[in-house]
Amino acid sequence: MTKDKMMTYTFIALAVLAAVTTALWWPITQQGWSLGLTLLISCLISVVVAVALDYMLSLAMKDKGPVNTMSTAVFGLIVALSYSYGIPVMATVELLPLVAPQAFIYVAIIAAVGEVAFKKLQGLLGRKYVNPAAAAKILVLLPFLYQILLPKDHTGYIPTLATELNYTGLDPLASFASALQFCFGNPDLLSQGVLTLPPSPSELFWTLVVAKYHGWAGGASSIAVIIVGIALFIVARKYIKWRITAAYFASVTIISLIMSAVYGGDALLRLGFELFVGSSIFLAFFMATDPATTPLTHLGQCIFGLGLGVLTVLIQTYMNFFGGSILALIIMNLTSSALDKVGLTKPTEEKIEVKLPKAQQFEAVKTTSCMRCGACMVVCCHRLSPILIKEAFDKGNADMLRKLRADLCDGCGHCSFVCPARIDLRGFTLRAKASLRSAKS
Ligand code: SF4
Ligand code: SF4
Repeated sequence: MTKDKMMTYTFIALAVLAAVTTALWWPITQQGWSLGLTLLISCLISVVVAVALDYMLSLAMKDKGPVNTMSTAVFGLIVALSYSYGIPVMATVELLPLVAPQAFIYVAIIAAVGEVAFKKLQGLLGRKYVNPAAAAKILVLLPFLYQILLPKDHTGYIPTLATELNYTGLDPLASFASALQFCFGNPDLLSQGVLTLPPSPSELFWTLVVAKYHGWAGGASSIAVIIVGIALFIVARKYIKWRITAAYFASVTIISLIMSAVYGGDALLRLGFELFVGSSIFLAFFMATDPATTPLTHLGQCIFGLGLGVLTVLIQTYMNFFGGSILALIIMNLTSSALDKVGLTKPTEEKIEVKLPKAQQFEAVKTTSCMRCGACMVVCCHRLSPILIKEAFDKGNADMLRKLRADLCDGCGHCSFVCPARIDLRGFTLRAKASLRSAKS
């Protein structure tokens, strides 16, 4: 696996989701614009803005910021697919620019801010601390989002999720199921009276699982996200941090069940909402697993996913912020540096044989920056942490090198062999070992 190859697989997966949503949304027209066409144009704008800026910044920064076309194209698609489109019937309380042409402007600004501030400049710090697409979206939309994050009128219109969730109610808006169908159901069918309120459980679960018509474009079809996401996990299983997604689903399920036990209501409806509404499902598969901003160790990844799930449910429940997972993601990203140190394997003098992927011949070796996939830590036959040893060596931190037991490296080269960024980890670790030896003598 190489970084470019992995980014190509991710780009293909995202392009499939963009195509699915475009097809679903194509017949829906809002303020004279086809929603499908809006998404298609947004994807093009976002990718072109991000890739063009990446190219120009790389020229300006010379060797400090290499051109990274594939990873930037993935970032551009994520920006467009994590943007909210479509006016729900409860439009009076929607504050965001949700339709074309305003949506195009904001998608372009988010792509530009994300590329400059959160990809390139953050990259100069040695590692990325927050997900670029999530952080840029929060920053650019803050003038709108603060009214949701610090609710005033917002709470008056959106049902409070802490209370009982049910399918029926005298006033349609008092029924949570109706509010969800109002917000995410097919607006054409709602206006024609084909979809009635309150919806039956099966109608609502169709909306949540198969086709939503408002919110993050990437999550419009939850089932498509699950199928495409799992396919990507299988193709790049050694490099994608799937444990985060698994832990996220587990914690959302547990917290939803606890909430249902405390507040009553329909447990399945609450679970369906927490798992599938708006951003959550797309974020769980395609943003929460971003290698650069998530922990390196398996245990750290599990804790990260658990925390993400708990925070998402709490924000959605008590702040009435339906897209709460994006805020939860940024908070959890900030814990990644600490979680990197949780669950490190214990170095051992004994040599342990590990199974390596099949070798492949490359015509040219292209070295890129570390993408923090953690693969080098899994294959070391002495259970060392080669990437952390490299970082400590770069900083001249001898205490850390001793703690990480760089002296145990026997130069087998497994770490360099699996590294998708083609970093000479073996060389760094052996140099670190030599530096410890010379410091001793
Ligand atoms: S070269 Fe050293 S650090 Fe890398 S896998 Fe082998 S023993 Fe571990
Ligand atoms: S150095 Fe390790 S964590 Fe970084 S890209 Fe290579 S294998 Fe992944």
